Amino acid sequence: MMSLRHGQPDTAGLGMTSQRARDRLVDDLRAKGIADAHVLDAIRTVPRHLFIDEALASRAYENTALPIGCGQTISQPWVVARMTEVLLAGPNFANGGGKVLEIGTGSGYQAAVLSGLVDQVYSIERIDELLRPTRRRLRKLGYGNIRVRHDDGRIGWPELAPFDGILVTAATARIEPALLDQLAEGGRLIAPVGPSSQQELVCYQRDADGITESNLGAVLFVPLLSGTVR
Ligand code: SAH
Repeated sequence: MMSLRHGQPDTAGLGMTSQRARDRLVDDLRAKGIADAHVLDAIRTVPRHLFIDEALASRAYENTALPIGCGQTISQPWVVARMTEVLLAGPNFANGGGKVLEIGTGSGYQAAVLSGLVDQVYSIERIDELLRPTRRRLRKLGYGNIRVRHDDGRIGWPELAPFDGILVTAATARIEPALLDQLAEGGRLIAPVGPSSQQELVCYQRDADGITESNLGAVLFVPLLSGTVR
């Protein structure tokens, strides 16, 4: 019988196989250019197999996006790691802490990765059917610094602004100025921008004299849509 590492939950019955698979994923991400040790540790620690359907659990530590229902996907681990790494390289995270808004909660995986790296995570999801199990999951797994909300996140969460970071995890042709307005000075917003077939990951940083934009390369996300659904 395989032994379990002490304190490691074996909820999906994956045991050490899961630990080896996680280590392999982290090696792969490092080989693909992810360098932030804290981010790699978060990817190693967050149980991605508990954020997807049990039938897909054996593929949880592959570097690939997977379906989570309602036509949506849990992002590819490399993309989650890259967005998180670029976010944390912003000036407002230099001494730890920070307050981050995510648009597109989905499975809650990206929020969970952020949870151990920043002070507060706020996340908005437009599909309630996805959000309900995600809420339960985050509570059960003990991610106490994540607050989620069912709404159209295109114009952010103005009541809680400013944010040190904003991650948009669905693709849009254009970032609403109202969302950029919610960035604190020194804050970074990272989003896939462009039509469904041709998106670029863009990082916007707000400084005293305005916003600077940098392009981080091609990505593929589901679209950012308007309105909410049950
Ligand atoms: N970050 C998620 C990835 C989810 S895919 C994860 O880690 O699993 C993108 C998500 O964005 C989908 O769940 C989709 O329903 C949601 N979404 C799309 N448009 C949105 C909008 N306007 N406001 C909030 N969420 C939105």
